[in-house]
Amino acid sequence: QGRLNSKVAIVTGAASGIGKGTALLFAEEGAKLVLVDLHEDKLNEVAAEIREEGGSCEIVCGNVGLMATAERAVARAVDVYGRLDILFNNAGIMPVGDILDYPEETWDEVLQVNLKSMFLMCKKAIPEMLKGNGGSIINTSSVMASLTEPGYTAYSASKAGIIGLTKEIAVSYAEKGIRCNAISPGWVETDMNVRLADSLGGMDKLYPIIKQQQPLGRMATTREIAYAVLFLASDESVVVNGSNLSIDGAASAA
Ligand code: NAD
Repeated sequence: QGRLNSKVAIVTGAASGIGKGTALLFAEEGAKLVLVDLHEDKLNEVAAEIREEGGSCEIVCGNVGLMATAERAVARAVDVYGRLDILFNNAGIMPVGDILDYPEETWDEVLQVNLKSMFLMCKKAIPEMLKGNGGSIINTSSVMASLTEPGYTAYSASKAGIIGLTKEIAVSYAEKGIRCNAISPGWVETDMNVRLADSLGGMDKLYPIIKQQQPLGRMATTREIAYAVLFLASDESVVVNGSNLSIDGAASAA
């Protein structure tokens, strides 16, 4: 018996990294899925993997920063599966740079993709959750919401904003059976960090930083992050609401 049997879930940023890892685990636990991302080919690969294992999966290709994408994703869940129970708002980008050189358009894009997308998805998802048995929303923040470092100009601001949005939704809809929690991963093995390593001159340059910042001594795997998201998505966490769960190998405790 899967821990998400008969639940319908939307996962954004599902073509790669944490979103992909979570989509695969949600499917294993019995959820029916709508996967959202910019990259159709990679989305199709994830969907094929899920269907091969007998899972149910739809894909929506689009920019999460646009209302039209939120509308399409929620409509797909309702049209195909008749309901919506879980929303994992996870898509994100991390362009780094000193504030003095940081283009205004990049600031706007980061805030749109990382933060406004969650507002838009929640606006469309919450009415459908209210028609059913409530729901669980999980928003991907980051350890960088509270522990920042030079260059994370818009990224840290967007990730801190996510925690405020998460708490507001939690207090507004707790009585109606909708929960909203954030996760704050530390270093995770994903393409985002491969790109960061490339910009620093290779993984060899990144490993000492990870060892120093994350007492665990290594990056988390996407599967290790997905287990925490699964807990927050499932009814096991029914009293966990408005929280921000650190999943960072003690990075934020150090
Ligand atoms: P990733 O780059 O592997 O995956 C992100 C996915 O989001 C990609 O498939 C990308 O195509 C998609 N995406 C980006 N912009 C989009 C848009 N406008 N519309 C739709 N999809 C879009 O990165 P990841 O590490 O898996 O990141 C997932 C989330 O985790 C992000 O919010 C990121 O900030 C957060 N996070 C990552 C780490 C880490 O160490 N990797 C740590 C803390 C938080």
